[in-house]
Amino acid sequence: AKHLGKNQLALYGSSMRGHSIRQLTLESDLQKALQRQEFQLLYQPILTLDSRQTVGVEALIRWDHPTRGLVAPADFIPVAEDTGLIVPIGWWVIETACEQLRCWSEHYHPLSMSLNISSRQFLEHDFVARVEEVIRRQQIQPHQLKLEITEGVAMHNPQIIARKFEQIQALGVRLMMDDFGTGYSSLNYLKSFSIDTLKIDRSFIDAMLQENGIEIIRTIINLAHNLNMDVVAEGVEHEDQAQRLVELGCEYGQGYLFAKPMDADRLKATVLDPKTG
Ligand code: C2E
Ligand code: CA
Ligand code: CA
Ligand code: CA
Repeated sequence: AKHLGKNQLALYGSSMRGHSIRQLTLESDLQKALQRQEFQLLYQPILTLDSRQTVGVEALIRWDHPTRGLVAPADFIPVAEDTGLIVPIGWWVIETACEQLRCWSEHYHPLSMSLNISSRQFLEHDFVARVEEVIRRQQIQPHQLKLEITEGVAMHNPQIIARKFEQIQALGVRLMMDDFGTGYSSLNYLKSFSIDTLKIDRSFIDAMLQENGIEIIRTIINLAHNLNMDVVAEGVEHEDQAQRLVELGCEYGQGYLFAKPMDADRLKATVLDPKTG
């Protein structure tokens, strides 16, 4: 008898093998991963650049795969986006992060929590109502929650997006523009929408000490400040970068210089500040 299972995939012919089969396998694995609770969140501190105080963390997802170990988001988020699985995964992230915030608030001084929100999830019609519901159920302070959105959302109906932004800010939740400067509509986005914080993409910080690097960062920071936004520099790895960013008036930084993403236990042991008395 012929083998069933994986060998059947040979039916698709050689051109379909490789990429798309990997994609199919990954899709069903991701579905199982959700059911089996194989995802976990790591937390990377965000600090004030001048006094180096941790003011918040960004939650970054990992897949704790039974055989492959910890899988980075770059290896599964794109497929999750393509298949729509990013939506249930995204709700798992929001729920888990809010539960974590609630849990920390009992014993530690409050921090803010930034979450990466895929455009696809953001565009769901009941997105705002569901966020509100989670906040209420987990009893967290809305201003502790920050949603990181990329300019991908700006490709959609601007009136609808602008209204969603307003509704989210009306809840007290803050909006951050992630990866600023990497796309082609970054400026358009700032013109059309109200955003609280701008995150300068790591590629600009990397190139900071090269020719014109400083001027570009200075321009982004001034632009943000003129529009009443705070600025977070992503991917700060070197002390001289941090120094220059302080001189340029950048408020916040995140990067390996300060701390790598870490699990909740390590965050508790090394970063969170216990309430006393
Ligand atoms: P991002 O939102 O731009 O997140 C920052 C990434 O830079 C993280 O990678 C972080 O670990 C890394 N990073 C931070 N500091 C440094 C540094 O100093 N040097 C270097 N080289 N890298 C640094 P990570 O965790 O692999 O996440 C990659 C991307 O995956 C994120 O980029 C985000 O777009 C996406 N992602 C992560 N978690 C989620 C999630 O829960 N939902 C969604 N939709 N996307 C997520
Ligand atoms: Ca982010
Ligand atoms: Ca980013
Ligand atoms: Ca980035």
